[in-house]
Amino acid sequence: MGPDVWKWNYEVDGSFCVASIKKSLGSAGRVSPDHVFEWNNWVPKKVGIVAWRADMERLPTMAALARRNVPVPNQMCVLCGDYAETCDHIFVSCHFAQSIWQNLAIWCRMPPIIAFGIKDLLTLHGPRSSSRESKAIHAVILVTFWSIWKVRNEVVFNQAVPNVVKSLDEIKSMAYLWVKSRSKMASLSWENWSRFNLGAM
Ligand SMILES: [Zn+2]
Repeated sequence: MGPDVWKWNYEVDGSFCVASIKKSLGSAGRVSPDHVFEWNNWVPKKVGIVAWRADMERLPTMAALARRNVPVPNQMCVLCGDYAETCDHIFVSCHFAQSIWQNLAIWCRMPPIIAFGIKDLLTLHGPRSSSRESKAIHAVILVTFWSIWKVRNEVVFNQAVPNVVKSLDEIKSMAYLWVKSRSKMASLSWENWSRFNLGAM
C-alpha cells in the first residue's frame, strides 16, 4: 500500500494527456454538426433570422402549429394550396418558391438551382462567402427567405395575392439597399446591381 495517487481511467497506465481526453470524447458518439448557419452582415439581423429559423424548422408554419396542437383551420400552403405548409415546402418545393429561385439563379448567373432541402439553398453560394460575389449571393438568398415568409404572412393575415414578379422586384431592391449601405460597395449603382455586375464599378 503506497500513498493515494490520481489515475486517469481511460489509459492503461493511468497517465493523463489531452490526446487521451480527445480520443475518449470522439468515441462517445458525439457528432459535430454537418452544417452551421452562416450569418451575413450585409443584411439586417431580422432578415437572417427568418432563414435561421427555417433552417431549424422553427417558423410557425401551419404544420408546425398543428403539431403543437394549436388549432389551425387548414394546414395547406397558402401560396399553392396543394401541400401541407412546412418550412421545406414553402421555401424549397412550393412552385411559388421554385419560380423565385430559378429567376434569381438566372439573375446571379448561377446554374439552375436543384435543392432538396433548406440547407441546399443556404449553401448555394459555395463554401463560406469567399468572394464579394458569393457574399452578395448569400445576402440575396437570405433576403429571399425573408421575402417569401413576408408574402406568406401577407396572404395569411391580409388576404394578399402572391405574385412572383412582385416578390422578385422586392428581393432585388431590398437586397440592393442593404448590400449597398452595409458592404463597402458605396458606389454600387442600381444599374450594375440589376445586372448582378459587382465587378466593374
Ligand atoms: Zn405551396
